[in-house]
Amino acid sequence: MTLTGHHFIAGREAAPHGHLFHAFNPTTGAQLEPAFGDATHAEADEAMQAADGAYDALRLATPETRATLLDTIAEEITALGDALLERAHAECALPMARLTGERGRAIGQLKLFAALIREGSWANACVDHALPDRQPLPKPDVRRVMLPIGPVVVFGASNFPFAIGVIGTDSVCALAAGCPVVVKGHPAHPGTCEMLARAVLSALHKVGLPAGCFSLVHGKCNDIGTTLTKHPLTQAVAFTGSLRGGRALMDVAAARPHPIPVYAEMGSVNPVFVLPGALKERASKIAEGYVGSVTMGVGQFCTNPAVVLGLKGEDLNQFISNAAALAGKVAPQTMLHRGICEAYDAGTAVWQTVKGLKLVGESETPSSETASQAACRIFTTTIDVLEANQELRREVFGPCSIITQCATLEDMLRYANSLDGQLTATLQGTEQDLRDFAPLIRVLERKVGRIIFNGFPTGIEVCPSMHHGGPYPAASHSFFTSIGTGSIYRFVRPVSYQGFPEEALPELLKDANPRGAMRIVDGVLTR
Ligand code: NAP
Repeated sequence: MTLTGHHFIAGREAAPHGHLFHAFNPTTGAQLEPAFGDATHAEADEAMQAADGAYDALRLATPETRATLLDTIAEEITALGDALLERAHAECALPMARLTGERGRAIGQLKLFAALIREGSWANACVDHALPDRQPLPKPDVRRVMLPIGPVVVFGASNFPFAIGVIGTDSVCALAAGCPVVVKGHPAHPGTCEMLARAVLSALHKVGLPAGCFSLVHGKCNDIGTTLTKHPLTQAVAFTGSLRGGRALMDVAAARPHPIPVYAEMGSVNPVFVLPGALKERASKIAEGYVGSVTMGVGQFCTNPAVVLGLKGEDLNQFISNAAALAGKVAPQTMLHRGICEAYDAGTAVWQTVKGLKLVGESETPSSETASQAACRIFTTTIDVLEANQELRREVFGPCSIITQCATLEDMLRYANSLDGQLTATLQGTEQDLRDFAPLIRVLERKVGRIIFNGFPTGIEVCPSMHHGGPYPAASHSFFTSIGTGSIYRFVRPVSYQGFPEEALPELLKDANPRGAMRIVDGVLTR
């Protein structure tokens, strides 16, 4: 496929003009062709108008049609073959094996949501039949179901070009719900964005849905994202990236005459508590898993375990020396783009100025000036230093982590209580540890979206029970997940129909329940 650098606005290809930018190969530093450009206000408006124009066709299409769209997009992505992987590899420096796995996850997500909407129970349909003879007042017939909210703006993430990209988790569940999507492509991998956009448009064409259901606009400036968020036709925004970017969009959305939700997933430090029983049993095995988790994907995961806490003593010392030794053996790896690598080096350089924080393990110095390579860096400190320094509470995106020595359970509890909202917290322990440290779990339940026992936070299963979110600032709304089938609820809202005749009701609310979806009928959960 020859890349053009075009924006895709409801099927119309618009050549870039004005301010142009290129992707760069993070490994070689080479500029990649073609040039892309910042979309104009007029192009953003055209995309939003087209999305709004396509809204009725998409939301009134049968679930079977929308499910076929998702399945067809999956086929179109598969048909892109190795060319897609090669372009993403050139733009993001992610290894081919990782990209192959991530493409599998992206395709799996499409199929998961296709199955979800075919089945129908996700819409939480609820039927309360009328009781005309009820005393002292008759009860009306009331029925409720979830309906799509309208055009959604999606910001693709830099670190998951497929699974959280142009047609990643956000776009997939928006289309599944019946919401047209306008994507602001990530400027670090615009060629990958173009290939995926072509796959979506081809699928829309094959299924017979309007091209306005999907647009991709490029931009390497905040202006285009702000314009899309402010646009009066935008009904919600989905974002994965930095706290600074997510918060800026939240503020823009809140200042609109009609505020809209911004579902932002902004990362966290993901504390890991290594409890005494587990340390005694398997300190070296935990150290292995921990360093593997810190360095997975060059640490470029919002779930990276950036802080570890344990009770000081011989077992924790053993864990620290194992982790330090393992970090020394990790080869430096190329990061997603130069900016992320510079932010990583600057962030860990600031850490190194903190009195009482010690660098104990570091992989060899990056070999190349051109490649944006990051060394794994493991630090140790004590709880008083961690508590006294705000800069140690902020996420530094990359393969670094701080192992913290606590004196007592109370130290851990105090730190946990002081945490900002987190995506995850992890406990490495025995069952006895779980009993002894139960108060810690009670605190973590108030702070995080996912608690992991004897695992590590990196690697997110895409399934109905997954919650990938957390209290602010991990995410903008703690109730919603951005991964797993629950993510569809960000783009729907409940509507009640009162007193409607059967034939005028949405299919899921009809008495016959033709699709056999789970519903609550007169207070009873039933098919
Ligand atoms: P980012 O800087 O937050 O950018 C993500 C997207 O949001 C880009 O399309 C960017 O467009 C746009 N954007 C950022 N700030 C904006 C603003 N003020 N107004 C409008 N649009 C805005 O994230 P990134 O480039 O992926 O990586 C940078 C940092 O984000 C990393 O160092 C890391 O800390 C964090 N990150 C977090 C996660 C996570 O999973 N939570 C994932 C990746 C990165 P422009 O580039 O055109 O401004």
